[in-house]
Amino acid sequence: MLPERVEVLVVGGGIVGLAVARELSARGRGVLVIEREPELGRHASGRNSGVLHAGIYYAPESAKARTCLAGNRLMKAFCREQGLSLRESGKVIVAREPSELPVLEELFRRAAQNGARVEWLDERQLADVEPRARTVEKAIFSRDTAVVDPREVLEALRRELAGRGVPVATGCAFLGREGPGAVRTSAGTVRFSRLVNAAGAWCDRVARAWGLAEHYRLIPFKGIYRKLRPGADFDVRGNVYPVPDIRNPFLGVHFTRSAHGDLYVGPTAIPALGRANYGLLAGAEREAAGLLLADARLFLANAKFRAVALSEPRKYLAAFFHRDAARLVKGYDPALFPAADKVGIRPQLVDWRTKELVMDFLVEARDETVHVLNPVSPAFTASMELARVLAEDHFR
Ligand SMILES: Cc1cc2nc3c(=O)[nH]c(=O)nc-3n(C[C@H](O)[C@H](O)[C@H](O)COP(=O)(O)OP(=O)(O)OC[C@H]3O[C@@H](n4cnc5c(N)ncnc54)[C@H](O)[C@@H]3O)c2cc1C
Repeated sequence: MLPERVEVLVVGGGIVGLAVARELSARGRGVLVIEREPELGRHASGRNSGVLHAGIYYAPESAKARTCLAGNRLMKAFCREQGLSLRESGKVIVAREPSELPVLEELFRRAAQNGARVEWLDERQLADVEPRARTVEKAIFSRDTAVVDPREVLEALRRELAGRGVPVATGCAFLGREGPGAVRTSAGTVRFSRLVNAAGAWCDRVARAWGLAEHYRLIPFKGIYRKLRPGADFDVRGNVYPVPDIRNPFLGVHFTRSAHGDLYVGPTAIPALGRANYGLLAGAEREAAGLLLADARLFLANAKFRAVALSEPRKYLAAFFHRDAARLVKGYDPALFPAADKVGIRPQLVDWRTKELVMDFLVEARDETVHVLNPVSPAFTASMELARVLAEDHFR
C-alpha cells in the first residue's frame, strides 16, 4: 500500500532518483520513491560501464564538470563504507593517430581546469601501466577513475533508504498529473508537497505533465558491448579509452575491466528505435516510426549527428566493432571477444529549436516540481553530488 500523502515524491528509482531520495531523507524530508519496473536497474543505471569518471572531458563551466569529480569521491566513499566492489584501476586515454593529439592536449587542459588529477605518459610509461595499450607519442593517465558494480550500488542505496524508513515502491508507475500536488500512479493517487522527476529515458514525458521540456526531443542511442571469452587472458588492467569527438557526448568504444574482473569492450552509440530497444527490434514497438523521422530530420540539420549516424550503426557488424577495438590495443584477437548480453540505452536530449544535442545535465523547476532532464553520462558518477546540488538549490 502506498501512502496517500508524502512530503517529497521521487519518480524513478534509477541512480539519480535514489541519490536524491538519500540526500533529501538525510536532510529530514519524508520521501517516497516510485519505480515503474518490478526491480531496480532495468535501464541505464543497471546497464552502464560502471566507470566512475574523474572530471576530464567536460567544459569547465558545465554542470558535468562541477559535479563529476565530487560525485566520484562521494560514490567511492559510499562503496568503501558499504563494503561494495570498487576497482581503483585508473584509466588511460590514447591517441590512435597524430591528428588526435591536439584534442588529447585539450582534454589535459580541461582536466586541469576541472581539478582532475591527470598525468602524461610517454609510450614506455604507458606500457608499464597498460602493457596492451597503443598510442601515438603520449597518453593521458587518470588515477582517480575507478569501476563499480552499478547494480550493487543501487541495491545498497535501497537498503540504506529502507533503514531510514524511505520506501522504494517498485512496480509503481507515474501515469499523469491529477491537479496541484497530486499524481495518478498505477497504485492509486499520491499527494505530495514536492515532486522530483528522475525518470531517466522517460523524463521528458513526466516533465510535459507540468508544461516543461516542450522544446526538447529525446533521442535514444544504443550501446552494445563485447566481452572477453571466459577463461581467456588479455592483459588490460583498467580502462583504455580513445580520444573522443568532443563535439558529441559519447566517449567512443573503450575497454573496461569490470569491478568483478570481466573485460568488456564497448559501448557503441547507435541511434535506437525506442527508449527500451535493447534487442535488434525488441522494445521498438510504438516509437520507431516517430524516432526514425526525428533521426532523419536531425541527420539533415546537424553534421555532428550525421557523423554518429553514419559511423555507429555499422558496428552492429562485428568487423566494424572489432576494427575500432583493435586500434586501442596491441594483439587484439576478435575471436576472444564475442557479443555480450549487456546492452544499454543512452537517452539523449536534443534541443529541437536548434537541432543540437544538449551536452550538459539540465535541471528545471516549475511550481512544486523539479525535473532532471538530461541525465546522460557521467550522471551515474555524478549522482550523489548532483543530488546535493539539487537539494541545495531547490529544497532549502
Ligand atoms: C551503455 C551505457 C554506458 C554508460 N556508462 C557510464 C559510465 O561508465 N559512467 C557513468 O557515470 N555513466 C554512464 N552511463 C550513464 C548513466 O548510466 C546514466 O547517466 C544514469 O544511469 C542515469 O540515471 P537515471 O537514474 O537518470 O536513469 P535510469 O537508470 O534510466 O532510471 C530512471 C528510472 O525511472 C523509471 N521510470 C521511468 N518512467 C517512469 C514512470 N512513469 N514511473 C515510475 N518510474 C519510471 C525507469 O524505469 C528507470 O528505472 C552509461 C549509460 C549507458 C546507457
